[in-house]
Amino acid sequence: AAWERSIIQSAKPSGRGHPVILVTGSAGFVGYHVSLALKKRGDGVVGIDNFNDYYPVQLKRARAANLLSKGVVTVDGDINNSELLRRMFKLVQFTHVLHLAAQAGVRYAVKKPMTYVHSNIAGFVVLLEVCKSLNPQPSMIFASSSSVYGLNTKVPFSEDDRTDQPASLYAATKKADEMIAHTYNHIWGLSITALRFFTVYGPWGRPDMAYFSFTRNIVEETPIKIFRGPYDTELSRDFTYIADVVKGCVASIDTAKPSTGSGGKKTGSAQFRIFNLGNTQPVKVGAFVDILEKHLNRKAIRDYVDMPATGDVPFTHANVSHAREELGYNPTTDLETGLGEFVTWFSSYYGDDSMACC
Ligand code: NAD
Repeated sequence: AAWERSIIQSAKPSGRGHPVILVTGSAGFVGYHVSLALKKRGDGVVGIDNFNDYYPVQLKRARAANLLSKGVVTVDGDINNSELLRRMFKLVQFTHVLHLAAQAGVRYAVKKPMTYVHSNIAGFVVLLEVCKSLNPQPSMIFASSSSVYGLNTKVPFSEDDRTDQPASLYAATKKADEMIAHTYNHIWGLSITALRFFTVYGPWGRPDMAYFSFTRNIVEETPIKIFRGPYDTELSRDFTYIADVVKGCVASIDTAKPSTGSGGKKTGSAQFRIFNLGNTQPVKVGAFVDILEKHLNRKAIRDYVDMPATGDVPFTHANVSHAREELGYNPTTDLETGLGEFVTWFSSYYGDDSMACC
């Protein structure tokens, strides 16, 4: 079928020795950028995304259309569909799975808790079950989150710090993913790497995230809600630029060891890794709004409100020395530069019609 031919074509690397990667959530913000980078260097890349409407589907379709123009196909499907996954693995021998599909966002969990269970837990297990049964098994690299540090107050956050106090259902599902991943690694010999991303931002970003909605507020001259944290402090975030995160993902693929199981039998111990991918330079939200004002050349209307008890944590701050050592990860983009890139994209993408975005 044409559908099958297009997947096989998309999975063709430019030469021998290149990995062949299944990217889940490829029409999402991070998935889009990593897929482009992998394709550009000659890897075989096939995407899958369910194009859900958590934020405007138009933006996901536009990312997928760009990917297709570069030769990367995004299959319109859900990771809970094991039959579909099995068909894809039958067509292509993927060496790696970069699993980024998830229900993201901490506040939406109050409205739609089961979406998190469906995509982040059930979907992940479906994917792992399929990977476990293959011969050879692919190596798995997946997106965890800085939110697993929850209400931990010891900064900066290191990978072995406590992660037993999640502040949202989202965080709890990501922590559960790490534990589920560890189980599949231990029992079935899957090689697994968990990447704890810290507030990733940049062009083609997510309309539900603060940097995006703040930009829109400033353009539309509507008030920005800035959360006051405990003790009257402002929230701070370790904003990490997308290009730096992409490098971390690519390096994780390149350093991933092969899985050691086959067809549901483990034949040796397999690699299990967890890395922080942050920027190491947390910025207070107010200071972050200052930078946006400068780039947009307009004043923000600031409305200070108490932090709602719906899942946000007061601060995040990554220690990335583990990723530096093992992955050669080195975040180099400061917030001023990165937000400049975002604002340039936002203006060209939405033009005068900023209302169209969200
Ligand atoms: P995103 O929402 O833009 O991308 C996720 C994509 O997955 C979406 O396109 C969505 O349609 C797809 N998806 C969701 N459920 C699916 C399902 N059941 N089947 C198939 N596709 C499904 O988010 P993002 O910012 O690109 O995040 C990528 C990953 O990184 C996610 O796992 C997220 O939890 C994690 N993460 C992101 C950040 C960040 O700041 N962006 C921070 C920490 C962790």
